Amino acid sequence: MERVYNFSAGPSMLPETVLKKASEQMLCYEDSGMSVMEMSHRSPVYEKIITDAESLLRQVMNIPDNYKVLFLQGGASTQFASVPLNLLRKSKKADYILSGQFSTKAYKEAQKYGDIAVAGSSKDANFSFVPKTDKNSFRADADYVHICFNNTIYGTKFPYIPDTGDIPLVADMSSCILSEPIDVSRFGVIYAGAQKNMSAAGLTVVIIREDLLGFAREDTPTMLDYKVMADNGSMYNTPPTYCIYIAKLVYEWILSLGGLEKMKALNEKKAKLLYDYLDSQDYYTAPVEKESRSMMNVTFVTGDADLDKKFASQASDAGLKNLKGHRSVGGMRASIYNAMPYEGVEKLVAFMKEFAQNNPKY
Ligand SMILES: *Cc1c(COP(=O)(O)O)cnc(C)c1O
Repeated sequence: MERVYNFSAGPSMLPETVLKKASEQMLCYEDSGMSVMEMSHRSPVYEKIITDAESLLRQVMNIPDNYKVLFLQGGASTQFASVPLNLLRKSKKADYILSGQFSTKAYKEAQKYGDIAVAGSSKDANFSFVPKTDKNSFRADADYVHICFNNTIYGTKFPYIPDTGDIPLVADMSSCILSEPIDVSRFGVIYAGAQKNMSAAGLTVVIIREDLLGFAREDTPTMLDYKVMADNGSMYNTPPTYCIYIAKLVYEWILSLGGLEKMKALNEKKAKLLYDYLDSQDYYTAPVEKESRSMMNVTFVTGDADLDKKFASQASDAGLKNLKGHRSVGGMRASIYNAMPYEGVEKLVAFMKEFAQNNPKY
């Protein structure tokens, strides 16, 4: 069977060249005589894989030397607890901007551990935009400010990096990491589940400024203590070895294309094709404010739940998979991460035009 265009929000498409390389090396990695899956994580051959993965990620994202890179497990959702456990280190206060479902989950989890406030929310507008904030939006003694940089479910993205002054900014970048260059030095912690833009599910990458290490609450589970993980080179226990290997192949793929500047240009081109079409007609509506539009997750509706259902089902028959919107939002969502080829978006727009023609609303 031919490969389809998979618009899933995650796990999502991986670059075909990465999958091919992995399949070539599936039975026998280089001259090890075994699959990466079968290797001891302490073996020299695997040590090189994880070390290379880290240095490639540092190169791709231009990560400053005073930041640690951690390869962890438990998904971004585990970070919702790890962040407060490690970072509520002085006042035990933290401020959260609520821009969607994941930031709300993070906020609720953090409430178990400290005095957590909302520094901005677009909940009343069904998260159709990213709240604006300035320095005064945050409590001066907050230990950190948390944001979700790209809102996977609603299809919005921060059009700005909040100015938090000296307060460390923590960002969930699960669905936008590696989609464009980002100034890492503006953040105290960046975390991302890998299954959107980086690897298979099972790996979570944490990038943390060194001065924020070593403050975990005493009752923090060892596995969630950033310092323990940093001191052990992400090998306190068995890391998600195969996912890290796939991530390494993805970093190599990004470098081979020309790095994140190039990746951004490719992503902008794809997103523009889709948004330009959405703006040019009135059969479909894009429900989020223009300024907050995500380059990775594009949401749209026909305004008729039955038509939306028909759309997703007929698109699937045409090889355009997983376009149904998140169950909490409805409508459609096209996730067009790094690995989605331009042709996939061209096919989607052609299908949208055809569907609109064949299914008049009145
Ligand atoms: C997918 C996603 C999550 C949840 O990730 P898990 O790895 O399933 O825990 C959290 N935040 C964002 C922004 C996401 O896109």
